[in-house]
Amino acid sequence: MTKIQSPKQNLIPTTSGQATRPPVAVVLGHIDHGKTALLDSIRETHVAEKESGGITQHIGAYQIEVSNPPSPKAMEGQRKITFLDTPGHEAFFQMRSRGAKVADIAILVVAADEGVKAQTKEAISHIKKAQIPMMVAINKIDKPEANPEKVKRELAKEDVLVESLGGKVSSVEVSAKTGQGIAELLELILLVAEMEKLEANPQKPAEGVIIESYLDNLRGPTATLLSTNGSLKSGDIVGTPSAFTKIKSLENFQGISIQKALPSDPAIVFGFNQVPGVGEEFKVFPDIESAKRFLRVREVKPRAVSEISAEQKVLNLILKTDVAGSAEALQGILGNFPQEKIGLRILKSEAGNINETDVKLGRFGGALILGFRVKIDPVAKKVSEREKVKIMTFEVIYDLVEAVRKFMERIIEPEEVRVELGKVKVLIKFLAEKNRQIIGGKVIEGEIRKGVLIEVFRPALTAKRGEEEEKIGQGRLVNLQKNKKDADVVSKGEECGILFEGDVKIEEGDILMIYKEERRKGRI
Ligand code: GDP
Repeated sequence: MTKIQSPKQNLIPTTSGQATRPPVAVVLGHIDHGKTALLDSIRETHVAEKESGGITQHIGAYQIEVSNPPSPKAMEGQRKITFLDTPGHEAFFQMRSRGAKVADIAILVVAADEGVKAQTKEAISHIKKAQIPMMVAINKIDKPEANPEKVKRELAKEDVLVESLGGKVSSVEVSAKTGQGIAELLELILLVAEMEKLEANPQKPAEGVIIESYLDNLRGPTATLLSTNGSLKSGDIVGTPSAFTKIKSLENFQGISIQKALPSDPAIVFGFNQVPGVGEEFKVFPDIESAKRFLRVREVKPRAVSEISAEQKVLNLILKTDVAGSAEALQGILGNFPQEKIGLRILKSEAGNINETDVKLGRFGGALILGFRVKIDPVAKKVSEREKVKIMTFEVIYDLVEAVRKFMERIIEPEEVRVELGKVKVLIKFLAEKNRQIIGGKVIEGEIRKGVLIEVFRPALTAKRGEEEEKIGQGRLVNLQKNKKDADVVSKGEECGILFEGDVKIEEGDILMIYKEERRKGRI
């Protein structure tokens, strides 16, 4: 297959300035089912080596051109596909939660040896909500234990009926390892795209979505933009709700300088006034003033400092992630934690390894430093050990989120919880001293123990008045006897002697509610 990525475009004009545009595909599926391997394999076989030094950062998208139609199904015309190369599902979900519709087609990757798993189901539900066409790539078909028919049956249970079982969803057996089936997968994507009639007007100013963003050490706040309509040109003023810039130069996904990016072409833009958020929409504005008017305070769910009351406990966090998309996703998830008992405050959240500055901020702000798929600089590690700043790093979003939950729960005071143990009906009263009394009774519910608490009710009194039972006093069960011998436990149906200490004189016929109070670990 020929490799290309030429700056010249092949949009096919239709009427009224509209032109078909390349489909944008996203790959979703369970962890380890081969999403990355598949994206890598497609990139390696279909993208030419970089012609210039270019960037090495993860930019969140790439584009291929499928050439030499390998099958009779292949069609003439638009042959490009843009792949979102997002870090797991999280960035895609985050974009969707912001209402951004970026992907036109979803490819559900399911490993042929493992079949449908939890995240496969999660992906199916997200794809359905996004209302975009789906196709299935049954991956790892090279493995001896591959069982594609079983995968199809499992998918059917999830309401994903593939064509060979009489449904509408295309499926293709592939191997990211050997390359088998990948050409067919690409043809299928083009076919679905053709049916979707994806159009855009390249004559119009661009509007679209921020796919990825990070702080480039040399070139400042940088973002990958994907235009869903219109073209992006050098000299344009672009703005998002959180950042803006006048484009001095534009690069394609390989870091090659371009004058113009057409609809569905990932483009890298440098020199924003700050790092824009992943999933934010962008637009081209006539002047800087109108771009500034478009700015909104970025919505970060973990509450702003001003919203957290002085008495409230707060867990300060510093988030460092592989790419800005992960940071955005994490903020979204953490922001959904209940924060009535303890507030979460994110002091800083950015892409990059954990460095000395982070540790200093961590010490100053009493914050926990969390790394997601990043390393800790050796100096930062040393300083953190010396200054006792806690750093934790994770490879899986879920693990990070659970660690934060545990931390929050550790800070929350344990709660006093009342545990009902049983009920005793008083049959006889013996001795009464000032605050102490010996009574005989029968356990009519549950079981009772020495040392527990007692609430006294007097049905005889309240029944006469036709009122609800009312508590008349309370105290403690100091000693317990069964058959005139000390006992630890007395159960339902048994009679017992109780040494009661409390603020009321117990009478025959009273009901004693027996309970204990337990301290339970706080929950958020
Ligand atoms: P992801 O978590 O879905 O991105 O999965 P990866 O792409 O990281 O793949 C997980 C593991 O499966 C890696 O060890 C890959 O080398 C392996 N793998 C991926 N695709 C294939 C395939 O087609 N065949 C075989 N045999 N192994 C594969």
